[in-house]
Amino acid sequence: MVYMKVFKFGGASVKDAEGVKNLAKVLEVAGEKDLIVVISAMGKMTNAFELVVTNYFGNIQEVTTSINEIVHYHHKILEGLFSTDKHPVFLKVNQLIAELSQFLDKNKSKQHPFVYDQVVSYGELISTTIVSAYLEETGIKNTFLDARDCIITDTKYRDANVKWEATQQRISEVINKKGITITQGFIASEYKHNLTTTLGREGSDYTAAIFAYCLNADSVTIWKDVPGVLNADPRYFKKTTLLNHISYKEAIELAFYGASVIHPKTLQPLQRKEIPLYVKSFLNPAGAGTCVGKGATLDPKTSCFILKSNQVLISLSSLDFNFMMEDHIGDVFKWLHEFKMKVELIQNSAISFTVCVDNKYDSLDALLAKLRGAFKVSWNEGVTLFTIRHATPVEVKRLEADKTVLLKQENRDTVQLVVME
Ligand code: ADP
Ligand code: ASP
Ligand code: MG
Repeated sequence: MVYMKVFKFGGASVKDAEGVKNLAKVLEVAGEKDLIVVISAMGKMTNAFELVVTNYFGNIQEVTTSINEIVHYHHKILEGLFSTDKHPVFLKVNQLIAELSQFLDKNKSKQHPFVYDQVVSYGELISTTIVSAYLEETGIKNTFLDARDCIITDTKYRDANVKWEATQQRISEVINKKGITITQGFIASEYKHNLTTTLGREGSDYTAAIFAYCLNADSVTIWKDVPGVLNADPRYFKKTTLLNHISYKEAIELAFYGASVIHPKTLQPLQRKEIPLYVKSFLNPAGAGTCVGKGATLDPKTSCFILKSNQVLISLSSLDFNFMMEDHIGDVFKWLHEFKMKVELIQNSAISFTVCVDNKYDSLDALLAKLRGAFKVSWNEGVTLFTIRHATPVEVKRLEADKTVLLKQENRDTVQLVVME
């Protein structure tokens, strides 16, 4: 029996040539022989591919410019990694770009989510092509795997759902458990015609968990630009504490509330098979990092602060000041679902219903138009949702002090605040 481990490297770890070189070092320090390495698009390339899609639908004369920027970014990395542009990897990357241009030339579909997945997936295809070639060059033998041959989904483009049985079977057939395999995060293929799908933004962590689950892996390690999971978002809070150990349940809560260091879907498959998840720093690969697994809820036991910015708070009341009844609220949920608004928090009173949503797919105007037909509507854009777990009242007060709190909700372990800053 070969026990494998799964590593995942995100965009930040391969944002430039130095990052790719460091990835090779991390593999050396870790010293694992049988490994699946899941890699995201380089740096912020997924945003750059999104711009290609936006231009394709709305600003066609800019498509070539946006593709050229992507080519330029990857060429710079290639030049930093390989001594000659005669290396076959240059041709491979150019071929991928040519394939993308051909798709855009020939495509007749006006379905934005479908086109999005066909285009944006090239970020991962290019990054893994480059990393695989570089590792070979430095003597780290590896097999390149197209994740679309393994991860099978439905046809919900941009947010596809995994078909577990088909995926399990493909992974059992295709994966060579010996040696190092390099593959893409985030991308998959749908079960009908094998067309490319994606698992949702930041979905590469989830890919790592899918491989681990289907292979009964020993563990998953996601390599980050932070020492591990911290008790507070370091982009906002100056003082943070490294969490040594977190239970699956607590980690699922933290990810669900928006601790963006772990993608929320990642933990369920790992919990089901009790596969530990390590979050470690690619800048300090020998560091202990954080272990998510069986055992203590939180070690050290401390309060956790999570924030989600750029949310929308919408309040509805009935046009005739009647009570907000279940049938009204039912309609609201139906429309939120239709416009793909992720609901973060709800609060209900006799005559009003308030909901805090994540306007991920830019569909606020369409939703508001629909809501205005049935309710009196008021809303605030650009609000921040803070979630505080295991906090003392003093800590909550301190956080509230310099903010305008629009809504507050408390239960036993969790306080949530919607604030305007
Ligand atoms: P990846 O390169 O894998 O895509 P991300 O950028 O998605 O990595 O996640 C790492 C980032 O998550 C960190 O740089 C940090 O700013 C942010 N982050 C938010 N909350 C936390 C937290 N509680 N602990 C650690 N990092 C956090
Ligand atoms: N490249 C994808 C994104 O930026 C997936 C990921 O990085 O996890 O969303
Ligand atoms: Mg990411």
